[in-house]
Amino acid sequence: MKTLICTIPLALFLSCGTVKMKETNLADITPVTEKEKVTPVAISSNEVQFSSSDRIEELMSFLASDDLEGRDSGSEGIEKAANFIENIFKENNVKPYFKIYKDTLSNYNKTSYNVVGVIEGNDPVLKNEVIIIGAHYDHIGHIKAVNGDDIANGANDNASGTSTVLELARYFGNTKTNKRTLIFSLFSAEEKGLLGSKHLSKKLKEENLDLYVMLNFEMVGVPLVNKSYTMYLTGYEESNMAAIANKYAKGKLVGFLPEAKKYNLFKRSDNYPFYSAFNVPSQTFCTFDFTNFNHYHGVDDEVELMDFSFIAGLVNKVIPMVEGITNAPTKEIKF
Ligand SMILES: [Zn+2]
Repeated sequence: MKTLICTIPLALFLSCGTVKMKETNLADITPVTEKEKVTPVAISSNEVQFSSSDRIEELMSFLASDDLEGRDSGSEGIEKAANFIENIFKENNVKPYFKIYKDTLSNYNKTSYNVVGVIEGNDPVLKNEVIIIGAHYDHIGHIKAVNGDDIANGANDNASGTSTVLELARYFGNTKTNKRTLIFSLFSAEEKGLLGSKHLSKKLKEENLDLYVMLNFEMVGVPLVNKSYTMYLTGYEESNMAAIANKYAKGKLVGFLPEAKKYNLFKRSDNYPFYSAFNVPSQTFCTFDFTNFNHYHGVDDEVELMDFSFIAGLVNKVIPMVEGITNAPTKEIKF
């Protein structure tokens, strides 16, 4: 997420260079004490047992390791992440959407790639309709050192969303239960202004892709606190996506966060370029609510702080949600 609202670079969520929001001083945001942190209960009854905390730890420990040096766009570190993602696609029957998996950005001055894979739908008609499932895998690289540590590892931002998308790709790559075609895209240069998603949305629009919806995952590394739902949806009021998602989750998986509306997060993540280019419901799922994680864009956004079993549980709840949306006879998600 690119710096957004805070005096301290705290770009939220989604790059925002464009809009200077109300200054907020992190010091004003009272960090959540341990006592206040409640373990969220399983809120949606429909979940599969597919992903595990071990698996999530494995993915995130690599993506957010010092070796990848904070995955700045165009860096050696992010190249290792791109190769890692490509291998996971290959191992799980996810084909390259273009000739190769790496989709070189046309709008950034350093060589950078989105990594784009596809699982064709198994229905002769619905396979012509496409759902994009995405997350940005870049972060901000080396920053001002704190106690000798100058790597912004980007565990929550956004190795967590990247791992979620990789687990969904692994599930559908091995079950092929999707009637509509699924494109899995890991975006680069989000922190530079949503450049990866702007590049891809333009390219796919030019080839007249029949995009149904775009589902984006951002900062899902730690649970929300004292909320009656697991993740919030940006642009909640833009469409009925939350209601449809909860229908297939058989519970309140997705909810509305007032701050997400207040800070206009709908326009600050990789969902937005797809909304602009295709004018279809394109929204972001997130669990960062400005109070439950104090290391945004800092050197301490480390894998040790991530809740692996929470993320695995989230993946296991999201799978039936995506399956329901992908296999519905009609495009029921609407503005
Ligand atoms: Zn981010």
